Amino acid sequence: MINLKKYILLITILTISVFGLFYHIDFFSEKGVEQQKQILIKQAQTHFYDQVNTRKWVAKHGGVYIIPLEGEKPNPYLRDNILKVDENLTLIKVNPAWMTRQLSEISNIKGFHFRISSLIPINPNNQATAFERRALKYIEKTDIREYYELNNNAEFNFMGALVTTKDCLPCHKHQGYVLGDIRGGISISLDSSEYDSVTESIENRAIILKLLAVFFLLSITLLIYKQLRHSEKLQSEVNRRTQEIESTKQLLQQIIDTDASFIVLADGQNIVYANKTILEFAGYHSIQEFRDKHEHLSDMFEKVDYNSEFIQSYNDDVHWVEYLRREQDSKNLKVRIKKDGVHRYFRPFAKDIKTDDKILHLVTFDEITNEYVKIKKLEHMASTDVLTKLFNRSKLNDVLEKEMALSEAISSPLSIVFLDIDHFKRVNDTHGHNIGDKVLIDIANIISSTTRKGDIAARWGGEEFMITLQSTDAKHAGILAEKLRVVVEEYDFDIVGKLTISLGVTEYINHESEENFVKRVDKALYQAKDSGRNRVVII
Ligand code: GH3
Ligand code: MG
Ligand code: MG
Repeated sequence: MINLKKYILLITILTISVFGLFYHIDFFSEKGVEQQKQILIKQAQTHFYDQVNTRKWVAKHGGVYIIPLEGEKPNPYLRDNILKVDENLTLIKVNPAWMTRQLSEISNIKGFHFRISSLIPINPNNQATAFERRALKYIEKTDIREYYELNNNAEFNFMGALVTTKDCLPCHKHQGYVLGDIRGGISISLDSSEYDSVTESIENRAIILKLLAVFFLLSITLLIYKQLRHSEKLQSEVNRRTQEIESTKQLLQQIIDTDASFIVLADGQNIVYANKTILEFAGYHSIQEFRDKHEHLSDMFEKVDYNSEFIQSYNDDVHWVEYLRREQDSKNLKVRIKKDGVHRYFRPFAKDIKTDDKILHLVTFDEITNEYVKIKKLEHMASTDVLTKLFNRSKLNDVLEKEMALSEAISSPLSIVFLDIDHFKRVNDTHGHNIGDKVLIDIANIISSTTRKGDIAARWGGEEFMITLQSTDAKHAGILAEKLRVVVEEYDFDIVGKLTISLGVTEYINHESEENFVKRVDKALYQAKDSGRNRVVII
């Protein structure tokens, strides 16, 4: 539609331009022709007034007498037409009309001729020709005192009116003429072949100019038309591509929005994009609403103190996106978000996307809650003693290894307490295995409730328990062991009654092996047993 309008406008401009140019070419051509015509008119007028002046002069003198040429008769239409000067010389009278006629007869030079004529001539020789009749009738009918015609024989015919003046009256009064009457005229005939050739060349030039103008305008129009077609094609190509990009964008948007993962695009400062999945999870309708409620995306992340694998706003004083990019390949990084009172776990992954002018961070969050919970359960099962719910020996070995390293790193003492129920075999033998199990559970509970937070207790095997005491030297570990011994001694084990425990205590010596460390506490326990049971031995 827009293009149709453009084409209509183009054709309109072309048409107006053609007509405008033609008009001006015609205007200047006609002006040129007119100038040529004016030259002819001026020429004819000059001749005419030349004659009029001469006639005036003759009339003023009432005619002039001339020596007649041989055989020349006096003019019979004139009064006093002869003047006898003497025996040998007789003059004849010439009036303005006869003079004009005589002059006209000798004026037949090439390209120029004139004659006197009248509609009612006195002298029949002055009878008007067809042109002269037309001219004189025109002059009589109008106030214009001259008339001209151009004919096809390269001839310019001009007629100037002879108006009766005071000088004419003496001769023409008797004919009934009064002042101002038109008695006739002098017709002047000029060769107009020069005029014809000049006007022809002007007309030819005008045709050439018109052709050139049409050619020029058509060329310009063609160029504009081609340009329009080209831009039309270009525009439709742009439209097609834009549509393609738009539908690809929509498709990608749909894919991204249906993706179960959270997808977020940040420019380092703000969230530029967040997919529908995360918006719906967070309970927002738009990215704007999301931005309004969260200055930073990390506001959603729960702070999990005990595990450095959980991402916070800042980890090790490093912004979380930066930290994620740096550590995501070496660490099993996670994010915990609380939703409706339930902890949900996500695995984040960051990737930089370079655009023309900036770098964007694309961060995805895959939900791993189910896997995480399952792994945690398995881990718990693998490290927990089923009967007492305390850590098992394998877990305690791991714990011990870490605590030894930490103790060394922060130069803090580390002690362990090894505990064995005295004569436990008898409990099983007397009350059965189930009651024995019950005693083991009771002892585990006593250990848990007697030790401090941070002390880690484990069932080492059978009726033996091990407790690690962080930041505790042997002396203080001995105090705790003694406290435990007393609590057990005073505890009433239901139908089993009273029981005692023996305990070995020792403190970690820097750089020693775990085996060595455990061997020493085992030795302490052995000494406690050996020296009578129900006691604490510190080595
Ligand atoms: P003492 O340590 O004072 O030298 O005597 P004790 O009777 O405790 O000696 P010992 O270490 O030889 O006996 C340990 C007993 O603990 C043997 C075993 O039947 C019992 N026992 C080990 N594991 C379990 C268990 O899971 N449940 C029950 N009920 N008994 C267990
Ligand atoms: Mg034992
Ligand atoms: Mg025992």
